[in-house]
Amino acid sequence: MTCGAKTRSGAPCKKPPLTGKTRCRLHGGMSLSGKDHPNFKHGHFTKENRRRTVEGNAQVRYWEDLAIRLGLRAPKQK
Ligand SMILES: [Zn+2]
Repeated sequence: MTCGAKTRSGAPCKKPPLTGKTRCRLHGGMSLSGKDHPNFKHGHFTKENRRRTVEGNAQVRYWEDLAIRLGLRAPKQK
């Protein structure tokens, strides 16, 4: 594992990343992210939250489709 950030010479950085991070000390490894960042507000738009939203929509579609197939619900009009 290396940092891999593009350096001023154009070559990828070969330093190892900081523990638990993907970048070395010089290339953003010290930056805070997620809830540790000073600009963090509510987390409504974090990657984790968006993934959950997508899963939730898939669930809704599944139950709607099932209801239509069981005749409990009319299919959407086009
Ligand atoms: Zn680096």
